[in-house]
Amino acid sequence: MSFETLGLSQSVLQALALKEYTQPSPIQAQAIPILLQGRDLLGIAQTGTGKTAAFMLPSIDRLTESKKRPAPRSCRMLVLAPTRELASQIAESARGYSRFSHMSVATVFGGTSINKNRQDVQRGVDVLVATPGRLIDLIEQRHLNLDSVEILVLDEADQMLDLGFIHALKQIVRLLPTKRQTLFFSATMPKTIRDLADKFLTDPAQVAV
Ligand code: AMP
Repeated sequence: MSFETLGLSQSVLQALALKEYTQPSPIQAQAIPILLQGRDLLGIAQTGTGKTAAFMLPSIDRLTESKKRPAPRSCRMLVLAPTRELASQIAESARGYSRFSHMSVATVFGGTSINKNRQDVQRGVDVLVATPGRLIDLIEQRHLNLDSVEILVLDEADQMLDLGFIHALKQIVRLLPTKRQTLFFSATMPKTIRDLADKFLTDPAQVAV
């Protein structure tokens, strides 16, 4: 199995070549073709399995294909993560994987200047990686809207629930266009998580690694 057979663009393959990944991890091999088709996905996977590339690589190609420009104070792909550490890591990966695809990437999370966040999203960004609390602050202060989100990723959903973000998540999802692609990742799948996934996803493919 190679990345070339999964249907990714030359720009993404070029970025992967720089990373020196030799072959896709199991979650990448399973999820990438499904996501390139635009389907929703429920992924049961831990950190360390390569799930960031599994959702970023096909999303970069879908954003490139849809050829839209980010609207001011908006984003085209929203990735929600439970902690600032994870959000920074995802943003860094997104920058690397989209190196030849010309995507703008921004991160917003608590404990940093909201004024800086405001400036970072002012012109609109392709990919926004955020923790739920700070995202809501930005929306409530009218520095950001979610009207043009094409792809939503919830990463480590179980941890977001453990940290008490359930209401924030529901509030955020209510502001999104109903026509979107949704990706939902969790290391565990207790009933509360499954119920939330049922609410947020439409006819999802399921991948477990
Ligand atoms: P993640 O599970 O997304 O946090 O990724 C875990 C680590 O694996 C990161 O350091 C990635 O850079 C690395 N990684 C992701 N995909 C691959 C791959 N196909 N081959 C080798 N390393 C990878």
